[in-house]
Amino acid sequence: MPGTDHDIVISGGGVAGLSAAALFGTAGFRVLCVDPAPPVTERDAAGSDLRTTAFLQPAQALLDRAGLWPRLAPHAAELRTMRIVDAGGEAPEPRLVRDFNSSDISGRPFGWNLPNWLLRREMVSRLDELPNVDFRPGTGTRALFTRESEARVTLDDGQITRCKLVIAADGRASPMRRAAGIDVSTTRYGQKALAFAVTHPIPHDNVSTEIHRSGGPFTLVPLPDHEGLPSSAVVWMEDGPEALRLAGIPVPEFEAEMSARSAHLYGPLTLASRRSVWPIITQVAKRMSGQRVALVAEAAHVVPPIGAQGLNMSLADMRALLELAEAAPARLGDGAMMDAYHRQRHAEVCARAAGIDLLNRASQMHARPLRDARAMGLNAIYSLAPVRRAMMQMGLGARD
Ligand SMILES: Cc1cc2nc3c(=O)[nH]c(=O)nc-3n(C[C@H](O)[C@H](O)[C@H](O)COP(=O)(O)OP(=O)(O)OC[C@H]3O[C@@H](n4cnc5c(N)ncnc54)[C@H](O)[C@@H]3O)c2cc1C
Repeated sequence: MPGTDHDIVISGGGVAGLSAAALFGTAGFRVLCVDPAPPVTERDAAGSDLRTTAFLQPAQALLDRAGLWPRLAPHAAELRTMRIVDAGGEAPEPRLVRDFNSSDISGRPFGWNLPNWLLRREMVSRLDELPNVDFRPGTGTRALFTRESEARVTLDDGQITRCKLVIAADGRASPMRRAAGIDVSTTRYGQKALAFAVTHPIPHDNVSTEIHRSGGPFTLVPLPDHEGLPSSAVVWMEDGPEALRLAGIPVPEFEAEMSARSAHLYGPLTLASRRSVWPIITQVAKRMSGQRVALVAEAAHVVPPIGAQGLNMSLADMRALLELAEAAPARLGDGAMMDAYHRQRHAEVCARAAGIDLLNRASQMHARPLRDARAMGLNAIYSLAPVRRAMMQMGLGARD
């Protein structure tokens, strides 16, 4: 597309922005991706992202299209079973265990789990292979000026760059979303998530386990073995003050508390990384797009980490945007394309955010009668095979 410096400027080089750069770059668009924070690509370095991402089936197909999957596959742990455990009774013991097996709906795993720091490393290497992608860590976007025919983005080194489409992948406080004047609605839960890695004596057998008691779910997601021992990524959601207390107590005390909270399902848990703390909110932008601007990932939607929906919804944003762009490259970023993107994604994003909000509130409940009702609800869903299969399909995003 002559006349502009780039076809697309991506604001943000987190996992979402890097995925978008690889995807649109592989499709042949001229892409500039900027982020003021250079990516941390080593597990134990200060500031590394210790969360993991469980990529569900549709997301994996998109990563393949971006030339990323062959790099990621050797490091991925398969998720073949989702185990939901209710430990909401008197004692923190499993009183209801229900397995959702991927073999009920297809011969493939539900998904593949990968550490976020490793995703950044492999994604940056992929961008190095693409001559039409200019990735500039250390530079951010500062201002946005749009008109009907193009966008002008001011970078924080003072350079003004012209493009057809700005993809805002600059996180939950998205400067490009603000510059485009798009509002958000936010729900707070007074809740935080601890994210860290553990090793355990009992193998996970590719089972992802979500244990509900109160305060929020305690989730173990399979990782490849760590130093010869079975390993899992843990996301432990709790009321804010309790999460901060847990993040600060000495390691032996923390290990005792987390082993009890895991209902000892995989034996005593040993901490195998730093503990990182994440605030939990639901936030949805009022629109998915503005003039020459498309919002993706946390710039558009933030959800509690339940059912591995966050980044998978983000990849669904990118798939929708890519299909529109490839269908009419000469109209990249025009008003009709931006409206179509909003229409395709917004209702789906709102519905998913509402569903996850409900699940989170159910998991947070402290009162015993409510916890009992939750266990009965899970049992009822599970007992009806067609409902169970439909829930699994929906969770995968296979009914987008
Ligand atoms: C504990 C936890 C566990 C999770 N587990 C899962 C999971 O298993 N599966 C899943 O799908 N999702 C999961 N999620 C959600 C997922 O991690 C997020 O959706 C995803 O990391 C968000 O990525 P992002 O790139 O949108 O935002 P961010 O990672 O916040 O990236 C935004 C980037 O924008 C940059 N930026 C800021 N300002 C500017 C600027 N002016 N110019 C340019 N760049 C800028 C920032 O430096 C940053 O690098 C989890 C979330 C949490 C909290």
